[in-house]
Amino acid sequence: MSKRLYLVLSDKCNRKCEYCFERPHSGKISTTNVEDIVSLISDALSKNYEVYFQGAETFYYPDIKYIIKKFENQLSITTNGDFINDYDMNLFKEIIISIHDEISNKFFTKFEKIYNKIKAFNIVVHNFNYLRVIKDFLSIDTKYRDKIEFVPYFSRATDKTKDDYYLSSSAKKYIEHITKQHLRERKTNTEKYKNWIKVDLVKMVFYPNFANKNIPINNIKEILL
Ligand code: SF4
Repeated sequence: MSKRLYLVLSDKCNRKCEYCFERPHSGKISTTNVEDIVSLISDALSKNYEVYFQGAETFYYPDIKYIIKKFENQLSITTNGDFINDYDMNLFKEIIISIHDEISNKFFTKFEKIYNKIKAFNIVVHNFNYLRVIKDFLSIDTKYRDKIEFVPYFSRATDKTKDDYYLSSSAKKYIEHITKQHLRERKTNTEKYKNWIKVDLVKMVFYPNFANKNIPINNIKEILL
């Protein structure tokens, strides 16, 4: 049973993706002392947690490079890749690149030197970008295709008009299908999420079982079992 700690150090991002799960961004960055974060990570690793950084964009946290150097090859991250630096990225254990604008061979060559570290390229598929995503996907090298993971988008009421306008009925069916499947998996996989927690060091709350319920952080280390 995997134990996971997701750490949020920044609610700031240089992008403004329509479909962002985390929007609107407050633009705030964690003010938690870096040594407290180091201590939390050490504690988590000693208790066999896998440690992941989650967005918005973690690279805005000023001491992130100090942290990843200290825990070389032990931490993972989801990032938009805009602040990518081969040396820093090689210090991670696993990297997930979330893709935003284009899916092209040119985009992927930027990550050539860290290809082996990349666990996945995530593309959010929604009504708005469905046709473009499929077309772009078919045009790229299979090497990159192998690592692409499609993530269903959970539409918001405010997006409805735009979505409906661009939507073909087959696209709509497909999106509904993968979204329902994803939700079903989340429901039936409660065991999987049992030992996953998210600690948001910007809002100073944590989410037990990766659930949508936040609880203020009092004594952070007691959260980790
Ligand atoms: S890059 Fe990621 S965190 Fe930033 S706006 Fe886009 S989806 Fe959101």
